[in-house]
Amino acid sequence: MIALTLKWLFALLLVVSAAVCWADVHQAHTHGQAKITAVYELGELVLALDSPAANFLGFEHPPESSHDKRALAQVSAALATPEGILSLTPSCTLTSSKLEMPFSSMPARNHENTEYQHRDNTHDKHHEVHNGLHPENASHSSGHQDIHVTYHWQCGEISQIQIQLTVFERYAGLAKIDAQWIGFGTQGVSILNQKHPILVLSP
Ligand SMILES: [Zn+2]
Repeated sequence: MIALTLKWLFALLLVVSAAVCWADVHQAHTHGQAKITAVYELGELVLALDSPAANFLGFEHPPESSHDKRALAQVSAALATPEGILSLTPSCTLTSSKLEMPFSSMPARNHENTEYQHRDNTHDKHHEVHNGLHPENASHSSGHQDIHVTYHWQCGEISQIQIQLTVFERYAGLAKIDAQWIGFGTQGVSILNQKHPILVLSP
């Protein structure tokens, strides 16, 4: 029941997010920018990050050089766990994560509950949905690629959550994250960057 409620809330937030996205083309695939959606409900926290692949990899073409392949493996490994991009206060127990990485040639590292999806740009449901929304999405079929990752924690009863994004220090290609959240009976939006890297969910 709790999980159902959370999933419903998260689905709602994604719908709201899509509507905001539709209203503001800057929410679309823009290099240097990414989006975070977070929901806290009854002790469970879910956070999703959507980002152009270039922000992490430095490229969006199929990896060819050994440098490209190494970057892909390193980013895939880093994003497989939330510690690769953030730190959480209070610390919560990670229960699952799901990474969708373009061109992923990296074999799954057999993290328990960690799921890798190898993606094909032309068969991406997310893009199919968005193709109807963004006129510039013709670019998606001309080689742009996105990374999607979702983390799910069990936090217990807490009075607020502080999420410090360490991702700006590690990936110079990422300058700004638009964050929106629902939790503690309210909701909020926040713009995060290297100077303001902390997202707070509180009543
Ligand atoms: Zn791109």
